[in-house]
Parts: sequence; structure tokens; C-alpha cells
Amino acid sequence: MKSDCIFCKIANGDIKADVVEEDEDTVTFLDASPVFPGHLLIVPRRHFETLADLPDNLLAPVFLQARRATQAVVAALGAEGSFMAVNNKISQTVPHLHVHVIPRRKGDGLKGFFWPRRSYTDDAHRQDFVSRLKEAFEKL
Ligand code: AMP
Ligand code: ZN
Repeated sequence: MKSDCIFCKIANGDIKADVVEEDEDTVTFLDASPVFPGHLLIVPRRHFETLADLPDNLLAPVFLQARRATQAVVAALGAEGSFMAVNNKISQTVPHLHVHVIPRRKGDGLKGFFWPRRSYTDDAHRQDFVSRLKEAFEKL
């Protein structure tokens, strides 16, 4: 536990949150400022800052729980689907890994979430990204 971390405190029960499910490895609670009501956050109990920091043995528990959350928002709230997201460092306001699961409905207005998009200048520009990424993946 990191003493100044708000999500560690929630996982530890030191500060109140609207917890909807918890297990040995994860805690799932309502986001206090939801994009839509029912917006959930899934966190590992132990403190890890980003997805890259999460050990392999906790990947499945965290993402199985995130999958359960996508099912729960449909079953409980009549959502037609959901949006799942993880901010890593950039736009991450709480530096304890958390998966957002946001209930979605057709026409709910969230379609601009990832805009604006940009195009590659040409094929060479795009291929340059392909080769740099391939090389990086091979070294991971
Ligand atoms: P991000 O910007 O991806 O780091 O998301 C952090 C999220 O945590 C935001 O959506 C906040 O509304 C939410 N949040 C911050 N503090 C609390 C809290 N004490 N209880 C529940 N949600 C929180
Ligand atoms: Zn923490």
C-alpha cells in the first residue's frame, strides 16, 4: 500500500467508496464523477501505477473483473454496451492502475471521445510507424 494513494486507501477500506464487488486481488467501485451513471473503476488491491507495472499474475484477475463489469452494466442498468479504458501516465489523474468501464447506449453522445483523428501523410509515413512498432514489439 502506498500511504498517499487514494485508491490504496479505498482498497484498504480507509476511505469510503461505493464498492460493488471485491475479491482477493481487485476492488470494483463507482467512479465519483461518472461519465454516465454506473461508470465503474476496477483496481488491483496492490499499488501499481500503470498497466506496464502490473505483474503477469494479476493481469487475468484485473481483466476478468473488468469483463464482469462490462456484463454487469448491461444486466443491471440496461446499457446496450460499454466503453473500457485505461489511462497510462498521460491523462491519468490517479497514479494507481484502474480500468474504466462506462455503460454505453446508442446516441449517448460519447462518439467524440477519441477525436480528433489524424491521417498518415502517405504510405511511407504509415510504414515507418509499422516498422518502428514491430521492432519494439520484438524487443519486449
Ligand atoms: P483517470 O483520469 O483515468 O486517472 O481516472 C481517475 C478517475 O478516478 C476519475 O474518473 C475520477 O472521477 C475518479 N476518482 C477520483 N477519486 C475518486 C474517489 N475517491 N472515488 C471514486 N472515484 C474517484
Ligand atoms: Zn495505490
